[in-house]
Order: sequence, then structure tokens, then C-alpha cells
Amino acid sequence: MPEQQTDAVRDAVDHFMKGLIKRNPGEPEFHQAVHEVVESLMPVVLDNERYRQEEILERMTEPDRVVMFRVTWEDDEGRFRANRAWRVQFNNAIGPYKGGLRFHPSVTLGVLKFLGFEQVFKNSLTGLPMGGAKGGSNFNPKGKSDHEVMRFCHSLMIELHRHIGEDTDVPAGDIGVGAREIGYLFGQYKRLENRVTGILTGKGLSFGGSHVRTEATGYGCVYFCRHMLNERGEELKGKAVTVSGSGNVAIYAAQKLIALGAKVLTLSDSSGFVHDPDGIGTDKLEFIRALKEERRGRINEYAENFKGVTFHKNKRPWNVPCDIAMPCATQNEISATDAKTLLDNGVMAVCEGANMPTTLEGVHAFIKAGILYAPGKAANAGGVAVSGLEQSQNALRLSWSAEEVDEKLQTIMKNIHAQCVKYGKNGKHINYVKGANIGGFVRVAEAMSAYGAV
Ligand code: NDP
Repeated sequence: MPEQQTDAVRDAVDHFMKGLIKRNPGEPEFHQAVHEVVESLMPVVLDNERYRQEEILERMTEPDRVVMFRVTWEDDEGRFRANRAWRVQFNNAIGPYKGGLRFHPSVTLGVLKFLGFEQVFKNSLTGLPMGGAKGGSNFNPKGKSDHEVMRFCHSLMIELHRHIGEDTDVPAGDIGVGAREIGYLFGQYKRLENRVTGILTGKGLSFGGSHVRTEATGYGCVYFCRHMLNERGEELKGKAVTVSGSGNVAIYAAQKLIALGAKVLTLSDSSGFVHDPDGIGTDKLEFIRALKEERRGRINEYAENFKGVTFHKNKRPWNVPCDIAMPCATQNEISATDAKTLLDNGVMAVCEGANMPTTLEGVHAFIKAGILYAPGKAANAGGVAVSGLEQSQNALRLSWSAEEVDEKLQTIMKNIHAQCVKYGKNGKHINYVKGANIGGFVRVAEAMSAYGAV
């Protein structure tokens, strides 16, 4: 059974969280992300005089810097439009800031602070020299023409370019920022700086991108899941998997699941989910990839085109019985009720492709039930890991083959899993949340400590 918190730890966590909430009002996602991490780290910090004296936790929960700016752009009707954008440079103790850009109407400073904070631990877990950051805008790319998206990206880069650099901060994609947006952003950076350099990752292959970067987060998540199952003497082959989302992470997670013999039952988008009891095979998945990536359509079209498939409007796929759940859409998409439904239906593993897709209550329920539960900061680190490999290739001015990159990705995911086991094992049970949080923390804390009061 998972270990219990002592009263001293609980009191220290409560005290810490009260202060954090007071200093950061109105940022519930940030509070949630910190709370989950601090629950794991507090026993380590209480046991370490130096960490306490140097206020490591307080400093780690305060971003190094936040840049906020207006992005003005012109729509196709010639009207001026304005959005807000941010770059949260959270912590560069172990390397230049690294983390994606998100374009979605739900983006707020609090959301980006939660994502930047998580990124610090995730990047540390990869073993690569990368600090943590996140950025983005409340711009909604849905329903915009390519030209509108281009004008927005170009305008955003006019401000952002002052704050980034290959040894300072290297952004990438995230929700709403894919190959198209990275191309526009990179083109504008190159024009403004007159330098072709690895300033963004997720670039097209023809201008410095890495093989396997597009697939890396989804593939890495499945590799991680396979390690968890193997640790319990189980295998992926034949397992029924519910996947949410149908974007970059979900599509390539599904592709690798299918390749390794699992049965993918569901995919979703923000309009609902599709359930295919026969399993989504390679051809059907290609239909969804083209539908979402190229035609920017809605997921219900899949149900309209294939027999036996049902579409569930405005619903999430967690009531479909499965062996493994792989949330790959967005934050807080598995509520406490969803977690209970998954457990009642006998789920054996939950492996997070998205960032913080499970509410804190849901996380507690999974840990209490002793199922295999992998938090996003460990399971979805493959994306940033291959971004790190893209930076290395750019710096070396060479390009590795897809096989070479995939092999490195598999090694990194294996090492992340090993760190989770090292720090999270308690008897037969492995608490992957604790393992990932402590594994990610130690490197950053030691570096911060070495620098003195900076
Ligand atoms: P995409 O924009 O490619 O896809 C996002 C998917 O999630 C779409 O299917 C979208 O539906 C759905 N979605 C977005 N917001 C909501 C919402 N509020 N409710 C329901 N569904 C929603 O993003 P990614 O695949 O890149 O990212 C997915 C998750 O993975 C995010 O949490 C991201 O932070 C995380 N992640 C991504 C990495 C990467 O390399 N891309 C790396 C590590 C983590 P619709 O099409 O209707 O908008």
C-alpha cells in the first residue's frame, strides 16, 4: 500500500500552500501543480537542513522572470486585433530555458506558470541540460485563415525575439502550436536577427528540425507505459486503451500503441469522443490524422465514416472500460468522478501524455488504489527530450537518422522510468508521482544551492 503522510509533513504542506496561494491569487492551476509536487518534496526538504536554510522550495516556486506583452495583428477583413502573450522563464539552474508555446483561448498567466513549473522537473528528469519555461497567448487559431495565423505569429515574434536565444531560452510547440506556427515564428526570427540558428524546436526537417520530434511525446509516453507494465510482469500487447485528444500527442501515442499490439478504443477532441469497439487500426488512424492535421475538422466525422463507431458529444472517454487510460488532450480532463469510474472498471494503468490531465483528487485516488499511475512530467518528457536532441543536432550542424533519434528517445524514457523507481519505490509499490518529483528536484536543487544566493 502507498505510504501515508505524517502530521508534520501535512502541516508543513498546508503552511507552504497558504503562503503560495496568498502570493499568487487567482491561479488555481498553478496552485494545483505546486501542491502535487510539494506533497512529494516536503519530507525531503524537512530532512535537509541546507534546503530549508536556503529556502529552495520557496525559490523554486517563484519564476525567474515573466514577460507579458500585447500582440497586435490584422485579420483578413483589415481589422486590427489584439491578444495578450507571455513567456514565463521559470528556472534556468541546469540549462537554458526550454518549453513550449500554447495558443488557446484558455491561456492565462496561471496556466503558463503551472506548465512552466512542471517543465522544470520534466526537463531535469530527461538528464539533458535544459531549464524550464512556458509561453503562449490567448489567441485562438481555430477558425482563422493561414494568413491570419501567419500575421499573428510574425507579430508575436517581433516582441518575443528580444527574450529568447539558443543559450538563453528555446521555445517549442504545444496546444495550438504545430509545424505551421513554428515555421512562421522561425521565419520571422530569422528575418529579425539575420541568423539561422536553433532558436525554436519542432522545426520542419528542411530547416533544422529533428527526425521523430513530431512523434516523440506520444511515442515516449507509450515507451514509458511499457516499462511500467513490464515492471509488474505485464505487457502492452492485447491491452485495451482509451486515449483522449486527437492532436500531436494523441495521434502518435495511438500510432505506437497500435504498432506494439494494443487496441485503441477511443480518441477525442474538444467536441466529444469517438468509441470504436473494433479498435482504431492504422488506416483509420491515418483518417483521423489527416482530418485533424490537414483539414482541421471535427472528430465526429470519424463516426460518420466508419461502421460500428459511436460519437459522444461533449463527453470524455473515461467511462469506456479499458486496461490502460492515456489522457493526451489537456489539463484536468480526468475528474475525481472519472478516476473512480476508471478504477471501478478495473483500469490497471493511467499514463499521462498531457500535462496535469488528472485533478489532485484523481491523483490521490489512483495512488491510493495502487494502480500504475504515471504523471505527465515523467511520461510525456519524450517531446522535450527530442527537442533537446534537436538543439544538439543544430549546435553540431548535423542531422541524426530517425533510427538514431528513436533509440536515444527509448534510452531517455528508460532512464526516466528508472529514476521514478529509484525515488518512488516503497516495498512492491512504486509511487511514480513521488519518484518523478524527487528525481526531477534533486538536480535542480543541487545546482541552485551551488550558485549561492542568486
Ligand atoms: P494539440 O493542439 O496538437 O492537440 C490538443 C488536443 O486536445 C486536440 O485534440 C484538442 O481538441 C484537445 N483539446 C484541447 N483543449 C481541450 C479542452 N479544453 N477540452 C477538450 N479537449 C481539448 O496539442 P498537443 O497534442 O501538442 O498537446 C496535448 C497535451 O500534451 C497538452 O497538455 C500539452 O501541454 C501536452 N504536451 C505536449 C507536448 C508536445 O510535444 N506537443 C509535449 C508534452 C506535453 P480540438 O482539436 O477540438 O482543439
